[in-house]
Order: sequence, then C-alpha cells, then structure tokens
Amino acid sequence: MKAIVLEEFGKDLTIKSIDDPENTKDGVIIKVKANGICRSDYHIWMGHWQGISTPLVMGHEFTGVIEEVGSNVKKFKKGDRVIVPFSLSCGFCEYCLDGEGQVCSERQAAGFSFNGGYGQYVHIPHADINLSHLSEEIDFVSGAALGCRFATAFHGVIDQARVGAGEWVVISGCGGVGLSALQISVALGANVICVDVDDRKLTLAKELGASFVINSKDQNVVERVLEITKGGSNVTIDALGHPEIFNHSIKSLKKKGRHLIMGLAPDHVSFQIPARNFVASEIEIIGSRGVPPQKVPYMLNMVENNKLHPSKLVTETISPDQVNAVLKSMASYDNMGITVLEW
Ligand SMILES: [Zn+2]
Ligand SMILES: [Zn+2]
Repeated sequence: MKAIVLEEFGKDLTIKSIDDPENTKDGVIIKVKANGICRSDYHIWMGHWQGISTPLVMGHEFTGVIEEVGSNVKKFKKGDRVIVPFSLSCGFCEYCLDGEGQVCSERQAAGFSFNGGYGQYVHIPHADINLSHLSEEIDFVSGAALGCRFATAFHGVIDQARVGAGEWVVISGCGGVGLSALQISVALGANVICVDVDDRKLTLAKELGASFVINSKDQNVVERVLEITKGGSNVTIDALGHPEIFNHSIKSLKKKGRHLIMGLAPDHVSFQIPARNFVASEIEIIGSRGVPPQKVPYMLNMVENNKLHPSKLVTETISPDQVNAVLKSMASYDNMGITVLEW
C-alpha cells in the first residue's frame, strides 16, 4: 500500500510503498477514505513525546470502508462505512468493563503505537468494541473531523466538565478541539467565551456561536471574564495545554468552578496550582482524554440531527503530498480549524 511515513523526527515525511497491515481474528482492515491532521501529529513529528518509535505511519482520526473482517468480528462486514475513535480499548480491563475505555489499561492508538491513517489501509484491533458505523448522512471528510478532537471535546464537555444549560464556559485555544468544545457547549445551552491570540480564529469562533471573544494579546482575560460573567465562569477549558491558560483559567472561575484540561502539551510542561484558591473555592481540575467508544454513537446522533456540525470546522482538504506543509504550518499556529487528508 501507499503510505506517508515518518522516518526521522522533524524531517519531511516520505510517500512510499510499504507492506499492507495484517488482520487479527477480532480485528478489521479498513480502507482509509479521510484522515484529520492533528496537533498530536505535529508533537509526534517533532519528537515531543517519549515512547514513539519510527518508522511510523501517523494518523489517528479517520473514516473509511471495511475491507477485511476477522473471523470473531460480529458487528461489521466488508463494505461497511466506519469511524474510528483515536483511543482504542481492549474491552476486558477494569476500566473498559466500567464503560471508561478511553483510559483502558491496554490502550492503543493508530498512528501512535501502530500504523495509522496516513496509510491507505489500517488494522484496528477489537473492532466490535472500538468501531462505530458511519451513516450515509455523514460524509467521510466530516467523519474524519469527529474522530479525535471533536470526540475528545464531546467526552470532555459532557462527561468530564458536566457543562449545563445557562452556564458560562470559557474556552482558551480556538483550534480544532477548542472550536469543537464551543459547538458542543452551545448545543447544550451554555454561554461561551472564546479566548485566543489570533483574530481570524476568534472570528470563526463568533460564527460558530461564541457569545463573546477575547484576544489575550490585547485584553486581560481574567478581568474581562469576571466582567462579562459578573463574577466568574462555571467552567474553563484549556484546549491547547499551556501554563498561561491554566493561570488565567483558574482565576476566571467562580466558586465550585470546574477547569477542564483537554489540550495535549509536550512532556516537559507542567501547571502550578494556586493552593489557596483551589481549597477556598472548591475548584475542580479535570483531565480528559479521548472518548469511551460507547459514546461515539451519541455524538453521531447529534450530527445526523443537525445539532453538531463538524463540517463547519473543516477548513481544507489536502492530498498526501501536502501533509508536510501542513505539519510545518503548525509550528506557528497558522492553521485554522481542521485540515483533512483525503485518500
Ligand atoms: Zn488528534
Ligand atoms: Zn481495556
């Protein structure tokens, strides 16, 4: 098969022929149709994270058609349209049995621990647990926009931060995961304030339903949030993984506020907790990673019924020879929304 291969961290990926993936009894082989280019790919490419080895075919947010089915797979057949959540579960560990497969003890992810959607074919293990059917109403490109950042935001906003109607939510970082969190919070009836340093991204946030936007280069985020919300936000969301976001978010919360961290930072980044605030105001600090596979159909339901619009986040579709340029543009945070590679 043809694949875009990472051979050396920080160097251009190369398009080449490699062996097709082999199937397992409980797995499937998927012919990839569309794959989102994620900031996680940028971090992998730059060598920011330990435990990733090369050569690697990246790509963890994709849709496609089932090409081959293992003998133990019951829910899928050749030709089915499917979506793959980036965090894959085993189905048998204590977390999976508890419905929390996003933190599975044996978790794997295509494009991290084995070859992913920057290749034409991908093997997905434990297919019955991990895959969801993608209806004809959702095209492959929009579906690819759902697999990682949208799904992560869905679980983060709903299950982890427990955003409710009428609450104030401050989202810092208006990339793919931030704008997804915005759409989901608005669909739940929350009032959203978006924070970024790029006016183009803030304009897009306004179009997608943000009630207020703040450019943190020009304005004091904490003062402005306290003014708009008349005393503090119920929820703050870090959609980038940055210490400055942590600082202004914690100070922007009202008592009993929840701060959700969804952005993935490089390994060396840590956050400092102001202990007094934290205790006196009973602040919650919550992490969130991926989505339990059982929740994916709920997200798809909302898309099929026009409550969520992943297609509005897709700003460009690209061919394999454009991937290097997109990864490079991520160094300066130039890219808007979600870019999708089409095979
Ligand atoms: Zn991703
Ligand atoms: Zn598990």
